[in-house]
Amino acid sequence: MDATWAVAGALLGVLLGPALRGVVVRHAVPSGEPPRSACPDCQQRLPTWRALGAFSARCPSCRTPLTTPLVLELAAAAVLALVLGRFAGQWDAAAYAFLGALGVALAAIDARVQRLPDRLTLPAYPAAIALFTVAAVVDADMAALGRALLGGLALAASFYLLVCLRPGDLGTGDVKLAGLLGLAFGWLGWPVLVLGTAAGFLFFGLTSIGLLIARRVTLSSQLAFGPFLLAGALVSVVTL
Ligand SMILES: [Zn+2]
Repeated sequence: MDATWAVAGALLGVLLGPALRGVVVRHAVPSGEPPRSACPDCQQRLPTWRALGAFSARCPSCRTPLTTPLVLELAAAAVLALVLGRFAGQWDAAAYAFLGALGVALAAIDARVQRLPDRLTLPAYPAAIALFTVAAVVDADMAALGRALLGGLALAASFYLLVCLRPGDLGTGDVKLAGLLGLAFGWLGWPVLVLGTAAGFLFFGLTSIGLLIARRVTLSSQLAFGPFLLAGALVSVVTL
């Protein structure tokens, strides 16, 4: 872990917070609805995510809270500090920083509305593959790129099988997220893919049991799986 890069990552996370908030507010809508472009309370048009830094936690006109203040800034700062500290100055850091920042927004959306919108996961494939390709060309490591692509295919296929076997437990959004994480795992190696995926299921299982014991949920409650899959991915990518 490189301290200088970790500090740079934390600063980048804080700066990206308002843009991520824009992404979360726009995309945390029920399935089938268009992205939100106006305040749910006063219908005033909201700034787009492109207005980097302009997106506060409250509606600019009626002050209705749009998201919990500081949560996205702190989450992005923590994730990017870990990721940039881990990949300090390497070319693959860009791919992991991109997936880390996207992961923060996806986890927040999944926790709010229990979905991982295609509008965010699908365009992330060409972006992540392009970033890994640049790293593979610069580092002359085509084997890693091949492994990343195979990892993405393998994990998406495995999750698709799980969705077919147990519909309701996982959604197709989880399949598309799994493919993205498979890319990130595969780049680092097959053990990371196996352990990273297992960590996601472990975090989900432990949290579910904890909530059941605390009687915060019942057996029929639906808990979003995406945040746990992302947390497992972060821990394994940073530590393995
Ligand atoms: Zn408003």
